[in-house]
Amino acid sequence: MIKTLGYAAYKAKDALAPFTFERRDPRDHDVVIETKYCGICHSDVHQARDEWGGSVFPMVPGHEIVGVVTEVGAGVTKFKVGDRVGVGCFVDSCRTCEYCRQGLEQYCTQGITATYNGYERDGTTLSQGGYSSAIVVDENYVLRVPDKLPLDAAAPLLCAGITLYSPLVHWKAGPGKKVAIIGLGGLGHMGVKLAHAMGAEVTVLSQSLRKQDDGKRLGADHFYATSDKETFKKLAGTFDLIINTVSAPMDWNAYLGLLKVDGTMVVVGIPEGEVPVGAFSLVIGRRSLAGSMIGGIQETQEMLDFCGKHGIVSDIETIAINQVNEAYERVVASDVRYRFVIDLETLKSAGAGF
Ligand code: NAP
Ligand code: ZN
Ligand code: ZN
Repeated sequence: MIKTLGYAAYKAKDALAPFTFERRDPRDHDVVIETKYCGICHSDVHQARDEWGGSVFPMVPGHEIVGVVTEVGAGVTKFKVGDRVGVGCFVDSCRTCEYCRQGLEQYCTQGITATYNGYERDGTTLSQGGYSSAIVVDENYVLRVPDKLPLDAAAPLLCAGITLYSPLVHWKAGPGKKVAIIGLGGLGHMGVKLAHAMGAEVTVLSQSLRKQDDGKRLGADHFYATSDKETFKKLAGTFDLIINTVSAPMDWNAYLGLLKVDGTMVVVGIPEGEVPVGAFSLVIGRRSLAGSMIGGIQETQEMLDFCGKHGIVSDIETIAINQVNEAYERVVASDVRYRFVIDLETLKSAGAGF
């Protein structure tokens, strides 16, 4: 077994604290990865605090993982020692259902093996995420990080990047398309960069104008405050596609009114609880309300290669592992520009509390 240092939530809403555990020895198709950096996704906070229900503890969060391969199983063909690799939100799936066979593993009918807060395919071993010193993953669920991209700033591509790339591609963001991104956070700022690189006209809808300069720098053509009622009048019927990244409950009806006829609002943010939608918001203008969850393995690799080609990474603030609880508070307060990334080297230092 591989002794692994990590930070875990021991139970819901507890501060994260040092946690030592074991990873399995590599099986034939496994890759052992020395993790270098891990992004902090708002989903980590939701799950560590059990805001969606059903969380399992102790929980080592983290699904924006990058590192270097240190060992491979005898049957591994895709990776070798020294490769720069990434792991995203899931580490296995059934591999046989219609969606797995189409490269849509995230929608596996048997359920994905979440990178953390779930069970391995044996149904009993808790999966543990990337706030840890190593991870062991089947080669079919490991991604290659392009050489051109710095590892630290590439980490958030593994969740924030793919979560925005997939719907942008699926709903055909590109030249001539007006795309709005609601919420300029970890997901949202990747959406701005990616939609801009795809050639779309990009608008940010943020709570205030505080982040306006950043939004423009990241590639937005327009920036509006949603706290200003005029915004909803001015932009009524404007967008082909809206991607809603907001992690809190909000009035989706008001945003559906900003779509053109046949426009689509794709929800990727996952607030607690239900959000009411009126039929009129959809029937007027033949509008669609859709959802999207991360992306499949092949598409995630395609996204990483796209980012390699366009030089796209996340804007990050690097922290030590013992700053993780403070970082969670700042994520909840929308006070992050635009993704916290944990330097996992800090797990090894005395300050990490082992
Ligand atoms: P984040 O960094 O906290 O960004 C969320 C942004 O939403 C904030 O920066 C803020 O932007 C806006 N916002 C926050 N509270 C708001 C409120 N009360 N009203 C209006 N806007 C508000 O979070 P993230 O990591 O990007 O994640 C966003 C959501 O996506 C989370 O719910 C997460 O669980 C979910 N998620 C889903 C998937 C998926 O596959 N679908 C994948 C990853 C994450 P402004 O300051 O610009 O207003
Ligand atoms: Zn995530
Ligand atoms: Zn499947």
